[in-house]
Amino acid sequence: MADKREIKCDCGGLLAEKEVKIDHISTLAMVCPNCSFTTLTKEQAKEFRKRIEFHQAIDQERQVIKIGNSMGITFPEKLHDFGITVGKKVKIEALDERSFKVELM
Ligand SMILES: [Zn+2]
Repeated sequence: MADKREIKCDCGGLLAEKEVKIDHISTLAMVCPNCSFTTLTKEQAKEFRKRIEFHQAIDQERQVIKIGNSMGITFPEKLHDFGITVGKKVKIEALDERSFKVELM
């Protein structure tokens, strides 16, 4: 990010940008290394709001369906709003024996 301002914590520590989880959603935030005080810059808050909306659009149970001779999972229509369209390339990667991630390319 371009405008990195120094933010001082009430305890005297200097806040540093760090990936944290707020309500189970990871986001970048400014965190005090001494007392763990956490706050979001305006830019981080905007990014966090986008992530919340994305979670709301995609987090759900789906059923594996048959598509021709293959299996598939459909995505909700709402994902159009996030630039996910038919023909878009994705990368699929196993995380463990029960989960995998689908990354937009
Ligand atoms: Zn502090």
